[in-house]
Amino acid sequence: MLKSVQLFEEAQHYIPGGVNSPVRAYKSVGTTPRFVSSAQGSRIYDVEGREYIDFVQSWGPMILGHGSAEVIESVTDQLKRGTSFGAPTVLETMAAKAVVDAVPSIDLVRFVSSGTEAVMSAIRLARGYTDRDKIIKFDGNYHGHSDGLLASAGSGLVTLGIPSTPGVTKGNAADTLIAPYNDLGAVRTLFEVNKDEVACLILEPVAGNMGVIPPADGFLQGLRDLCDEFGALLIFDEVITGFRLALGGAQEYYGITPDLTTLGKIIGGGFPVGAFGGRREIMEKLAPLGPVYQAGTLSGNPIAMAAGITVIERLSRPGTYEGLEAKGKRLATGLKAAADAAGIATFGTQVGSMTCLYFTEGPVIDWDSAAKSDTEFYGAYFRAMLDRGMWLAPSQFEACFASLVTTEDDIDALIAAAEETLKELA
Ligand SMILES: *Cc1c(COP(=O)(O)O)cnc(C)c1O
Repeated sequence: MLKSVQLFEEAQHYIPGGVNSPVRAYKSVGTTPRFVSSAQGSRIYDVEGREYIDFVQSWGPMILGHGSAEVIESVTDQLKRGTSFGAPTVLETMAAKAVVDAVPSIDLVRFVSSGTEAVMSAIRLARGYTDRDKIIKFDGNYHGHSDGLLASAGSGLVTLGIPSTPGVTKGNAADTLIAPYNDLGAVRTLFEVNKDEVACLILEPVAGNMGVIPPADGFLQGLRDLCDEFGALLIFDEVITGFRLALGGAQEYYGITPDLTTLGKIIGGGFPVGAFGGRREIMEKLAPLGPVYQAGTLSGNPIAMAAGITVIERLSRPGTYEGLEAKGKRLATGLKAAADAAGIATFGTQVGSMTCLYFTEGPVIDWDSAAKSDTEFYGAYFRAMLDRGMWLAPSQFEACFASLVTTEDDIDALIAAAEETLKELA
């Protein structure tokens, strides 16, 4: 028996399902997880000592690759000085300045400990600022696991076949209005039917939790206009896209300015960090300046801040995003060609270093079209690719990422493995 199988059994004695986040259980791909012992650069190693090329990158954060010498150095420095103080540090100001300088719409930013917390706090702030209750979100967009945001929430739930979740009150669910992604008409109707009741509209400006779905031409601008027309705030959830598509995230990439932005994943450099920020007059409604309460014992944790500052500094160097875009293109084009050569119907998407190959002919523009994918086939593809040393997301509805340390050889190895696998499975 594989050591991982044994370890997974043991974990299940103590942890629900053996995992601390459901997608890690590999349920939808018909196998059990490999336990990880370490990772370095573009590689990740399991407890059996097998090496894989990592295209998941801890679900996005590890854009510098694993074990970045720069991150380790700054974190080690800080470790010696203390790991948590519950009092202000210069590191927090430095990290905040780096975020404010990088992200166009952010005048003021507050750090929290996860993406979930960032979104939850941003929504509360939007409600407090507008004095309205309802929110609009999109089918298949994921915004963390807080109550009210789990309706139609993309990968983690759909992969497990859970449409929404018990434990969320009817009142909470009723305040969440859902529209299909890329459908401006549906959003307008929701605004008209719920006139003067919608506090904010939140979306992933590139959807990264139902595979990778780019916004249609004019979609983001259309949402900006609708929010202005109906007096609602526009929130970009850039927990994945922030610092991935550009230093200023999707809002820089597409040139659209939201009122509030949520961040996470990359800004923690592999440590637990989230952040939310936006226009000064809105952010000043937060305690201690204003009445909207929000707090955190470990918020702005010095180790996490040290890592985040280093990551942003590294990403600020010239050529970063051109390089990531080129890798994303090479990866997406190669995988699509491998599927075409094997005669398998697929639809490929790519924005910067975010890519997805859907096992459906497409086009994939929203959750309904993404859901046509053959997930059983994805499971077989996933398992065969894992055996060939390719660490992919254990779900059709996740991104395949390139990072700064993903080499052309890594990408070519992925494509070669896909060519073999897809021919075998065709
Ligand atoms: C991952 C993710 C979140 C939640 O972040 P956590 O750190 O897992 O709580 C929120 N929004 C988006 C778009 C995400 O991808």
